Amino acid sequence: MKHAKLLVVNCVKRVSKSFSTSPFSLQRHYKILVVGAGSGGCSIAHKFSSKLKAGHVGIIEPSNDHFYQPMWTLVGAGMANLANSGKKMSKVIPKKADWLQTKAMAFDPDKCIVTLETGEQVHYDYLVMATGLQLNYDKIKGLPEGFNTDPSLCSVYDYNFVQKTLPAIQNFKGGNAIFTLPNTPIKCSGAPQQIMYLADEMWTEIGIRDKANIYYNSSLPVIFYVQKYADTLLQVLDRRSITVNYMRNLIEVKTYTREAIFQKLDSPREETESFKYDFLHVTPPMSTPDPVRESPLVDSTGFVDVDKETLQHVKYPNIFALGDCSNVPTSKTSAAAATQGGYLEKNLNAVMNGKQPFAKYDGYSSCPVITSRGKCILVEFNYDCLPLETFPFNQAKERRSMYLLKKNIIPQIYWHMMLRGLWNGPKFLRKVMHLGMDGPEKDYTHSKDIKGTN
Ligand SMILES: Cc1cc2nc3c(=O)[nH]c(=O)nc-3n(C[C@H](O)[C@H](O)[C@H](O)COP(=O)(O)OP(=O)(O)OC[C@H]3O[C@@H](n4cnc5c(N)ncnc54)[C@H](O)[C@@H]3O)c2cc1C
Repeated sequence: MKHAKLLVVNCVKRVSKSFSTSPFSLQRHYKILVVGAGSGGCSIAHKFSSKLKAGHVGIIEPSNDHFYQPMWTLVGAGMANLANSGKKMSKVIPKKADWLQTKAMAFDPDKCIVTLETGEQVHYDYLVMATGLQLNYDKIKGLPEGFNTDPSLCSVYDYNFVQKTLPAIQNFKGGNAIFTLPNTPIKCSGAPQQIMYLADEMWTEIGIRDKANIYYNSSLPVIFYVQKYADTLLQVLDRRSITVNYMRNLIEVKTYTREAIFQKLDSPREETESFKYDFLHVTPPMSTPDPVRESPLVDSTGFVDVDKETLQHVKYPNIFALGDCSNVPTSKTSAAAATQGGYLEKNLNAVMNGKQPFAKYDGYSSCPVITSRGKCILVEFNYDCLPLETFPFNQAKERRSMYLLKKNIIPQIYWHMMLRGLWNGPKFLRKVMHLGMDGPEKDYTHSKDIKGTN
């Protein structure tokens, strides 16, 4: 298998620096070992490899390509090209770091060893976990096989299934169109609503909307946990005559009868409800990748167990985590990973210098939620689900400017600043825009704990 082969990129000349010699064998040893080179891992690897000598940072990452996943919502609606959402991994990984192109398969935090898919063991002084999430379509009976046989099934969360989304929207001629949200933490939970609003708009434009019943079947009890943005989204749903069914979790897809079976999470008995579908957009259940979920690094929910402010592991002080794989109770987005990177950098530096971590992450997360082609609300909030807005105007209002920001500006920030470790979120901009008054809006009711589901 291609991925099973260990490729050490950029380290041929430096090999002797990266290896320490034991009497019996050469062993690969890094000062900082980063697992995963997605949004969070790539950014943190750049931050540290620019400070440390070449060969002191190692990155374990199996994929050949790096994707800007937020673009997939637009790809699904035919508003962006899938090919433009990715770059070769070799182009985004820092040149001064060693790229071990394989999977991390086992973690021994007591011995500071990560075992690779090749069987090789890599030693580290400090470990940064950034493996993101695994998509578990197979937890839904009938999937993922159903995607191969039923053209009305699609999903913007997966590289292959996002390509089925536009044809499925275009081929829909009326009937039931269902969009789902699972009962696990997921990345960017705004994405299922965005593709729904864009599909609705397309069906309106081609004149079939009055033949369609659109359902948003969500495992959550609310549309969004930040009240300010929930208020806007409820208006959008109402305006578009979309039916929301709360506490409905997709458990089975019968492609032969075109039925989607949902578990009723609000029912004391294990009741299910069946919906006939003519179009089904599936947001899959997600978890950390199996090797992480089965490691000693995780809490009882299977996410890397870190302090929610310092991002330092609660048991192993030389381990940190950022991005979707950690158990910090905020929404899982690139925007959150970027902000966490700034705090992680400060705290890991402190620990490397024999000090205590001091920088405290406030749970900042953000997602531009597209409500129609050309309009967007920019949600930004903290651990308390209080709005923490960058701009000095009401971001819960649907605006063209925020859409242009999402489509044209944020991707540039991502590729040219975040991935290079140069973007720690918009905190400084927020201060400037609010004339030095930085802080959440307090006049909103909020839920206590969102556990990454927002
Ligand atoms: C459709 C969609 C829309 C989105 N929209 C937005 C948005 O508008 N705004 C926003 O901020 N965010 C959005 N996101 C979420 C955002 O993409 C993620 O939150 C972000 O990528 C998380 O970064 P990460 O580094 O934790 O994980 P990822 O970027 O997913 O990277 C994880 C990396 O770890 C690697 N890996 C996995 N297992 C192993 C292993 N065993 N060993 C080594 N490496 C491993 C993977 O190959 C991958 O490269 C969206 C996501 C999707 C899918």
